[in-house]
This record gives sequence, structure tokens and C-alpha cells, in this order.
Amino acid sequence: MVPLSSISRILRNRIYTGEFEWLGTVYRGSHQPLISKDLWQIAQDLMDGRYISKLPHTGGTVRDFAFTGMIACGHCGCAMVAEIKKNKYIYYHCTQNKGRCPERKWVREETLIQQFSALLLKLRFNWKVYDLVVRALKSSLAVERQEHAQALNRVKGELDRLNQRLEALYIDKLDRRISDAFYFRTSSQWKEEARRCEDELLRLNGAGESYMDEGVSLLTLAQDAHSIFEKQEGMAQRKLLNFVFQNCIWKNGELIADYRQPFDMLQETALKSLNSEHPKGYDDAGKENWLGN
Ligand SMILES: [Zn+2]
Repeated sequence: MVPLSSISRILRNRIYTGEFEWLGTVYRGSHQPLISKDLWQIAQDLMDGRYISKLPHTGGTVRDFAFTGMIACGHCGCAMVAEIKKNKYIYYHCTQNKGRCPERKWVREETLIQQFSALLLKLRFNWKVYDLVVRALKSSLAVERQEHAQALNRVKGELDRLNQRLEALYIDKLDRRISDAFYFRTSSQWKEEARRCEDELLRLNGAGESYMDEGVSLLTLAQDAHSIFEKQEGMAQRKLLNFVFQNCIWKNGELIADYRQPFDMLQETALKSLNSEHPKGYDDAGKENWLGN
């Protein structure tokens, strides 16, 4: 059973309505575009392979090693650093800064790349499921737009009503139908309400249409991460890996890495989706509650 609706929930809640950690900061909110432009741009750049052209090709003996400082030794916690052997082979090894470490064997960069690549492959969804989720996110977007438009109309209406009342109140004051004290008390209350409406309008206008586009971008990135990685090299690969993984560890010849949010949950879901050739819920997907609760 592929929990299709849960993917939609992951993308909605984790990114749009829940807490989301981005570059070390935890964002929370209900309808704010939490990570919008940065994430969207990075996802686009990664998918377009735009980082490839920015690669610093030094060609000489001095170069940036792609994974230096990115992976910790699983035994002693020291950083894994790189060295070139025989003028061409890049090897990584524990710095052994904390003394003798059991991780004695050096590892070729190609081996690390292979293992990272295998971890990225685990993010891939069954294509049917992927199509379904993208469709669901897009229909979700239509609903969201509608709700957004309704909210805008509601707040605008409220603001108009308050402004009309304030005008009427002012005329009452001029015509001496109400006391100055009553006028000031009531008008300050309504002005305060009007200010709240204006803030709400600003917020609604700022909340762009990119909620679901981001969800689609992120999902597409997860789907393509493996093939993008394979086409890239050096710092471009590092950038992609940093985007998806954290706490990378090398221990006993094996690379262990945690998927960052929301890739962690996408990976779990992807695993289930790959395990089921004909995912239950595919044919009756229309009955799924995509919009969550
Ligand atoms: Zn070590």
C-alpha cells in the first residue's frame, strides 16, 4: 500500500504549514511562503545542471576536493580529508587528529561517489506514483488559489466596511450627534481593526503562488537527484549532496548519511512505492484525500 495522501501531506505540512529547517534555521508558520525563492531557485538550478558550468577546474595540483570536511569518520568523529596519490587518484582518509583510529583504510573518491549515488537512487519514486503526486499537488494548487482569492475578497470587504463606518462616524461627530469621547474611543478601535486588515492584505499579497510549485520542484528534484548527480562533478555534486544529506559518516567501508527534511520522509515513501509494482490506490486515487486535514 502506497500512502499517496501522505506524500502530499509531507510536502504540505513539512514545507508549508509545519516546521522546516533550512540552512540551520527552523521556520514555522501556517500560510507563509517559508522557503520559497531560495529553495525553488536551488531546486531549479540543480535540475537544470546550472552548477556544472560554474565548476572551478584548476587542473593543477591545487584543487578543491569535493567531499573534504563533509564526511566524518565513524570511529573517532574526525573529518575525512583528501589526498592525491600517484598524481591522479584521490583518496579520502580520517585525519586521525584524535589519535590512532581503527579506520585505517583509505577510500577512493569514486567509491564515495558510488555510495552517494546509491543513496540518492533511494529517493526515486515509482513513476506512476510520482505522476499521481504531481497531479495531486497541482489540483491542490488550484484549490489553494481559490481559497487565497476568497480570503483576499473577505479582508478587502472588511476593510471597505470599516472605512465607510469611520467616515460615517466622523460625519456624526461633525454634526454633533455623538460626543468627542465616543468618537475617539470608537474610531481608534475601528482604526486598529483596519490596520489589522491591512496587515492581513499585505501578508496575503506576499504569499505568492509558489506553494505547490515548490512541492513539485522538490519532488522532481528528489526523483532526478540521482541522474543529476551522475552528470555532475566536484563542487556541483557537493552542493546537491549538502542539499539532500546531513551527518555523513564513513565507517568500515560504508557511507552512512541522514536524509534532510523532507527528503527523509520522501525516501521512506519512495521505498514503499518502489516495492509495490501496482500500488494500491492508483486506480482509485481520486478518492484519496489529497488536501489532508
Ligand atoms: Zn577516525
